[in-house]
Amino acid sequence: MGEKFHKRIERATCADLSYEGKGVCRIEDGVVFVDFILPGEEGDIEIDYRRNGQLFGHVKKIAVPSPDRIFPECPVCYACGGCSFQWYRYEAELRYKQQKVKEQFRKLAGMDVDVLPTIGMEEPRYYRNKIQPLVGNDEEDHTYTGFYKEGTHHIVPVERCLIEDERASKILKVIRDLLDRFHIPAYDEHARFGVMRRILIKTSYHYPEIMVVLITAAERFPQKDRFVEALIKECPERTTIVQNINNSPSSVILGEWERVLFGSGIIRDSIGDLTFRISAKSFYQTNPQMVEILYAKAMEFAHLKPTDVVYDAYSGTGTIGLMAAKHVKNVVAVEIVKEAVEDAVRNAQDNRINNYSAHVGDASSFLKAMASRGEKVDVLFMDPPRKGSNPVFMDAVMKMKPSRIVYVSCDPSSLARDVKYLSKLYKVGRIQPIDMFPRTTHVETVAELCLK
Ligand code: SAH
Repeated sequence: MGEKFHKRIERATCADLSYEGKGVCRIEDGVVFVDFILPGEEGDIEIDYRRNGQLFGHVKKIAVPSPDRIFPECPVCYACGGCSFQWYRYEAELRYKQQKVKEQFRKLAGMDVDVLPTIGMEEPRYYRNKIQPLVGNDEEDHTYTGFYKEGTHHIVPVERCLIEDERASKILKVIRDLLDRFHIPAYDEHARFGVMRRILIKTSYHYPEIMVVLITAAERFPQKDRFVEALIKECPERTTIVQNINNSPSSVILGEWERVLFGSGIIRDSIGDLTFRISAKSFYQTNPQMVEILYAKAMEFAHLKPTDVVYDAYSGTGTIGLMAAKHVKNVVAVEIVKEAVEDAVRNAQDNRINNYSAHVGDASSFLKAMASRGEKVDVLFMDPPRKGSNPVFMDAVMKMKPSRIVYVSCDPSSLARDVKYLSKLYKVGRIQPIDMFPRTTHVETVAELCLK
């Protein structure tokens, strides 16, 4: 902020939605990215600030609403910033996501690709199996929980979130009441004073199991035992309670140190006929209904055969490779987080899968070493983090020449960039967006690549 601009209100029409879900409105001196306006709508927009030479604003009044505008059920949706589309018809959101993937291929890969229609949820609500709200106290010292307003450290209180698993919302309410009853203060990050920073709740979709992680600023937790006892009494599910200590001044969510206060310290969930262990720190896909569809598509695009040697790169707790294992000769996984690999090995044992090995390491170095040893691979799954993969990894892949690559991506721009690189040797097949994150701008994509 701070760049010079002329603060004013103007009438404008929204042409499109940007990558970040903001309305693209053209005015006399350029383009403004406007919050809360939808394509085709005309309205009064207030220009709020200029950043990197770009104007940003929000809508004041809508004069001509879009037929895709709906009345949002969430009372805090404009303030919270977690969702970008509570006021947008879901079908239109799904079309936006399909278009967004296509557009990234055009812009960043110079490729005109066909993108399949986004597969959405039947009921795009209550899906998140992991929530991690902040804790605060109001003027009367009542506890509230909520999320940072976009771009700030101001907590917007949220009583009931429409995209979270409802069981988590219920337990969160119980926890707020207990924090009040036991006079346990929220941690105030400005004053650096207080106890409770955040509450992390993970719910299992297929088992009646829940994990509550109480994230405190220090080890001190007054009335801890009575608090835990009271919380357990109120939870109908099998519950495990963990305390995590995070004394970092930054906004990282979990600290290093944790201890189990009640139960096993893990929950289980399943995908297809496999069961997975989930601990406080391990990554697990956040939409348990759509993950079934995501992985089913990944398997379909892979055309697995019993003789195949399969690599699962960026494997996390092993989910994709373990799903593939029963259809192929063997699976080799590589992942950089040691705890995730330990979980993957345990998950293989628990599901009696013997043709699977998982390695701790950087996927690029690992593949480069495999390629220089002349190792062969038939099918490669790759599921990198948001920033995508890199040339070292992809050069090694092109040396090993797997006949198929299935690229699972949570960011269409790094996907398009990487697919362009691989397109020297690979033909692009189906590109399937899947709505893992309804009501937000994020979209997951599975892409099929075949050796030319
Ligand atoms: N395939 C898994 C995890 C995908 S998330 C699933 O579907 O659940 C991406 C994973 O890549 C994370 O587990 C992250 O720890 C891992 N990762 C990030 N950088 C990496 C690197 N350089 N080498 C290997 N793995 C990496």
